[in-house]
Amino acid sequence: MSNLTMIDPVMETYGRFPITLTYGEGSYVYDEAGIKYLDYTAGIATCNLGHRPPSVQQAVEQQLNSLWHVSNLYHIQPQEQLAKLLTENTVFDQVFFGNSGAEANEGAIKLARRYHQKIKKNHRFEIVTFKQSFHGRTLATLKATGQEKIQDGFTPHMPGFRYLPYNDVDALDDLIHDETAAVMLELTQGEGGVIPAEKEWVEQLVTTCQQAGVLVIVDEIQTGVGRTGTLYLYEQYGFEPDILTSAKGLASGFPIGAVLAKHDVAKAFSKGTHGSTFGGNPIVTTAGLATLQAVLAPGFLSEVKQKANDFITGLNQIKEANSTIKIVRASGFLIGLELTEPAIDYVNKAREEMQTLFVMAGPNVLRILPPLTTTEEEMHKALRVIHDLFV
Ligand SMILES: *Cc1c(COP(=O)(O)O)cnc(C)c1O
Repeated sequence: MSNLTMIDPVMETYGRFPITLTYGEGSYVYDEAGIKYLDYTAGIATCNLGHRPPSVQQAVEQQLNSLWHVSNLYHIQPQEQLAKLLTENTVFDQVFFGNSGAEANEGAIKLARRYHQKIKKNHRFEIVTFKQSFHGRTLATLKATGQEKIQDGFTPHMPGFRYLPYNDVDALDDLIHDETAAVMLELTQGEGGVIPAEKEWVEQLVTTCQQAGVLVIVDEIQTGVGRTGTLYLYEQYGFEPDILTSAKGLASGFPIGAVLAKHDVAKAFSKGTHGSTFGGNPIVTTAGLATLQAVLAPGFLSEVKQKANDFITGLNQIKEANSTIKIVRASGFLIGLELTEPAIDYVNKAREEMQTLFVMAGPNVLRILPPLTTTEEEMHKALRVIHDLFV
């Protein structure tokens, strides 16, 4: 068969970079030719402790020797331990486990609707989200996502979603309609370009929702598990969301999603109303538990904050001396460089010429996601690469 007629057996949904990674350790990955790369993508904010963190690897290896899967027809020890640790360290009382970010957001949307219909006994169903947001790729979450390119070709669309501009105080006048059940937002938009929410806007949004009995859902799938310097980003805004979704970094690369909620709301998910076969299975929740224990270890998060501040200071110095970088936006180690030129060119150059991996967040934003465990030495190396990229 000639190359021309060869069909890739994997569907071509991703624009992949032309390398195959086969080994990872700490902040580094290696391709099949043995080339070593500094990985400042962290599997898109997922490998927050670097690749194969020893404490997680050890815990998972031990669990592999006892039990892999039993379904949620039975109690699962590590699932219950992970739920306990999450609720002890957040404002939430209960957790539902699924397998991905989109599934967590689906669960949050279902929970908000069911809360209004069954507990509040009203007919509120609408979820308000924001332009340039990203909430996932399922039929409901692609409609929750405020980007037309994600929705293209998938009609008929799921009804019950409406969008407002992000960080726009005036637009909050139209936040709540009679049918609005919840407002769902990222406190820093990740895929949308690394855009932090302004404190004053969030404050007004939350007050408006609370006065109307409308739920606030924070999508912390990308911002969670220490990425921004606190366990979850809502802590830095001083309010208590009703529902939070977590995924990516929660189990160091094992597929997990979680819906966290206050008991008043969570009780709407009574027996038989929601479920997931794999959700919270023994292997992933063991990985999640070991991950969360590492992130909550004394001093870990303050060190993340300190390192991120130093790194951002370094980036701003590079920006001052360079006109291609327009703005440095950051929320801890979730960092975006808004460029005057397409970010893809710089992502490719960093990989090909400097063996350093970055991603994008929209066409003009170079996104930098170091593992939270990255060292000063690696940070210096990455700053040198970024400096050299733009000279
Ligand atoms: C990645 C992401 C999702 C989707 O998570 P998947 O695991 O890919 O389904 C949803 N919301 C945000 C903010 C994300 O960053």
